[in-house]
Amino acid sequence: MNRPKIVILGAGYGGMISTVKLQKMLGANEADITLVNKHNYHYQTTWLHENAAGTLHQDRTRIKISDVVDLNRVNLVQDTVVSIHQDEKKVKLENGELTYDYLIVGLGFEAATFGIQGLLEHAFTISNINSSRLIREHIEYNFARYNNEKEERPELLNIVVGGAGFTGIEFVGELANRVPELCEEYDIPREKVRILNVEAAPTALPGFDEELVEYAMNLLEGKGVEFKLGTMLKEVTNNSIIVEKDEQREEIPSSNVIWAAGVRGNSIVEEAGFESARGRVKVGDDLRAPGYDDVFIIGDCALVMDKENDRPYPPTAQIAIQEAETTAHNIKTLINGGDHLEKFVPDLKGTVASLGEGQAIGVVFGGKKLFGWTASVMKKVIDNRYLLKLGGVGLLLKKGKFNIFTK
Ligand code: FAD
Ligand code: NAD
Repeated sequence: MNRPKIVILGAGYGGMISTVKLQKMLGANEADITLVNKHNYHYQTTWLHENAAGTLHQDRTRIKISDVVDLNRVNLVQDTVVSIHQDEKKVKLENGELTYDYLIVGLGFEAATFGIQGLLEHAFTISNINSSRLIREHIEYNFARYNNEKEERPELLNIVVGGAGFTGIEFVGELANRVPELCEEYDIPREKVRILNVEAAPTALPGFDEELVEYAMNLLEGKGVEFKLGTMLKEVTNNSIIVEKDEQREEIPSSNVIWAAGVRGNSIVEEAGFESARGRVKVGDDLRAPGYDDVFIIGDCALVMDKENDRPYPPTAQIAIQEAETTAHNIKTLINGGDHLEKFVPDLKGTVASLGEGQAIGVVFGGKKLFGWTASVMKKVIDNRYLLKLGGVGLLLKKGKFNIFTK
């Protein structure tokens, strides 16, 4: 009998952990494993805000897939997935086509733009290595232009971040440290630069621990971040944003608008016809797509309900990694002829958000609050733990964050 074909789409947290687990769990003759990804590298999405601000080089964030995956065991296809045809068990790529017996969809997230006018055309998003590098270079270019313009052009120095969720807050934390360096480099007085964080909810980090939110806001305001809370970003033009608070509209000049106000699942999943809400498929307990016993959907493309409060778990790397482990286990069971699949139960260890070098906030171990330097050390421990899980000590030594005082 032919070996079953396992195809894994996307080398993000979910795709990478599924691949390395399956590579370990299955004998060479048990299955053919194919991993499809746009690039020959995996990147740590959770570090992209640092690349976008320019506080960490993107080469620290990306990891060559061949450094982690055994290419004698796994067929790596560097290509872009165009569409999934689950009824024909087929995946169309830009440069070819693949058939599968088991499919793992780990294509990650896209920015949710909520139809806001001008957003797609004029705003940037922290989505991958290339979009993050573009943000860094765009801001630097505008700083470089500032002293070469005949007229005063505040829009070149106003940086607007839409959304004060975890991505927005982590990004302004990095910017607050990076801006003084840029001012020094480009001969710009610091007081001319504004970092604005626009948030629709009445507080930053809505739903997170209030004491930690207050700590974060005080720290960031102390470094010059201006919060505009209870304020909706309504429109983006090529050199301004329009916001609304209490039915009053305001136009703020800015040519540096970074949209960090929410994510949705990859639209390929939606286009494939899986039942989904904003690109996220409500998967079964065993992580299979409803109606398709050979398709597992994980990471930001999957929606798993928290039965305690009947709300979806937020899409995180932490959950993507755990889903990948369950999926690898379940595929091995199916290949071995079993039918008793593992149910996915998230084991949430907590949440830690960085606020720039040496600063963070977090809740871990079922409720312990962490502030400042201690939280920032914990963040590095979490990052290093992932590297160890993915690629062992070798990868940890190559890419880990060890210096607890610098990056
Ligand atoms: P991703 O990690 O997004 O990977 C998707 C992969 O699919 C990528 O490699 C991409 O190149 C590839 N791909 C996409 N489309 C195609 C295509 N058409 N063809 C081929 N390949 C394709 N979560 C936490 O738990 N902790 C954190 O501290 C944290 N920090 C974050 C910080 C930032 C700035 C952001 C943006 C998110 C953060 N998150 C964090 C959320 C976390 O990053 C995501 O939940 C996680 O990346 C989802 O993993 P994934 O495997 O679903 O997809
Ligand atoms: P999010 O949905 O968590 O936050 C988006 C924020 O934007 C919300 O506070 C929302 O009120 C606001 N918003 C939406 N529309 C707006 C508008 N028009 N104007 C102004 N504000 C608006 O999205 P995110 O921060 O991108 O996070 C995505 C996922 O990644 C989440 O699950 C998050 O938990 C995870 N994440 C985790 C970490 C961490 O654990 N350290 C870091 C980053 C992201």
